[in-house]
Amino acid sequence: MGDQPVQVYDTTLRDGMQQEGMSVSVDEKARIALKLDELGLHFIEGGFPASNPKEAAFFARMERERLEHAALVAFGMTRRKGAVAADDGNLRVLAEVFTPTVAIVGKTWGLHLTKVLHVSRDENLRMIADSVAFLVAEGKRVVYDAEHFFDAWRDDAAYALSCIRAAAEAGAGVICLCDTNGAALPSFVDAVVREVVAEVEALVGVHIHNDSDCAVAASLVAVEAGARHVQGTMNGYGERCGNANLVSILPALQLKMGHRVVSAAQLQRLTETANFVADLANVALGAHAPYVGRSAFAHKGGLHVAAVEQTPQTFEHVDPAAVGNEQRVLISELSGKGAILRKAQEIGLQLSGDDARVTSVLKSLKEREHRGYHYEAADASFDLLLRDTMAPHEPLFRLESFRVIVEKREDGRAVCEATIKIHVGGERIVSTAEGNGPVNALDTALRQAIVRTHPHLADIELTNYKVRILDEAKGTGAVTRVLLDASDGERSWGSIGVSENVVEASWEALVDSIEYGMLRGAEGDA
Ligand SMILES: [Zn+2]
Repeated sequence: MGDQPVQVYDTTLRDGMQQEGMSVSVDEKARIALKLDELGLHFIEGGFPASNPKEAAFFARMERERLEHAALVAFGMTRRKGAVAADDGNLRVLAEVFTPTVAIVGKTWGLHLTKVLHVSRDENLRMIADSVAFLVAEGKRVVYDAEHFFDAWRDDAAYALSCIRAAAEAGAGVICLCDTNGAALPSFVDAVVREVVAEVEALVGVHIHNDSDCAVAASLVAVEAGARHVQGTMNGYGERCGNANLVSILPALQLKMGHRVVSAAQLQRLTETANFVADLANVALGAHAPYVGRSAFAHKGGLHVAAVEQTPQTFEHVDPAAVGNEQRVLISELSGKGAILRKAQEIGLQLSGDDARVTSVLKSLKEREHRGYHYEAADASFDLLLRDTMAPHEPLFRLESFRVIVEKREDGRAVCEATIKIHVGGERIVSTAEGNGPVNALDTALRQAIVRTHPHLADIELTNYKVRILDEAKGTGAVTRVLLDASDGERSWGSIGVSENVVEASWEALVDSIEYGMLRGAEGDA
């Protein structure tokens, strides 16, 4: 078993979509599938081809697409009780779908047989065997998902084993042990997988939910115990507490456990892919997400930065470049000249430690932090501040004025309208836009004004907006700090604005965010 490669099976488009509030269009599903294919995953589960028109449309669309690496998988379940597999409508759909690989889920746990399905244990075994055998006879490669396997094992290990034996003997290519309720701890998964691998002649996989916050750990332990097929979702999406997060499983298998799952170049697309899926799912990717989050390789504090500068392994568990992420040095009062020099180098400015401009940046940094600026989560604003001190550049535009009107109407609706007057490349532009809030209206008006000269703007999306009232600044009353996150689908960045007025603070953060995004775009095009 040791020399057998590990298969990674993504179920973002099926199980991941069970997450509360998650909804993507057919087109978005197709784009996610193509992106996951580029990452080099082996299987992409697309859903049940006939459960609703949207799923059917997705499979019809995917029939025209070409996947380079992954096998698209159609998902369904074992035949109904008392029926003949060949006459079962759902199984017929799977037999006729264009994908050579199909997955079916079946019951294992006595509790579900008596309380939910009202099926005898023997009939359940026949349902499993008949369904797998039918699909195999139809020429399909079958992944068999043994639902509630770990709970079933605790309840009656012999019966749980007979269920998966039935599937294996009927010709299933993969026997996937599911922890559907996410109850199992890694030590239990380890023990069960070892016994199953020893007892059953089939490729064994796991599908683990995260209710105990152990899904990644349990999946990795399962591979150590001999499983060679791991199911999960991008960013751990899934109902309740989510599924096993492939974004963490993939680099662990490859970089720490020595399995060659995808190529090194494919693994470098991990951060980009995680962000891409998060953007389409419209769920902000957590800054602290392991491997791919913006803070995953962020370092704070003078000594710490000096050490990681010289020897990255002192404070980094893997090379950030291996997963397409990057090291970041957080800028705060704690950081000294070293961090400033390092940042300057990142943006292509060669400076020596005794350069007077370094001291001047440090000074203005401290002065701004005193006023309520906080650059740790606002890398874009800091980047711009540094560039401006080191080598003053022409701003993207010059603001003449902006105005925002908030109108509450009789019907209960509140509408915002923003008008901005700016000068871009010698031209005066007046732009007006409506929005669901003042920031949205300002953002739309500003983009409208400059998108013609900077088409890359169209790719930038504001992903998060946080407002905090600070009482740190004394004498002037409360000050508002706005943190804005933006993304261009590949990377995300943060900007900051501070003012006594929330609209003014938002505008400052907005301008930094867009200006930084355009710099990125300009560098990307080069
Ligand atoms: Zn599941």
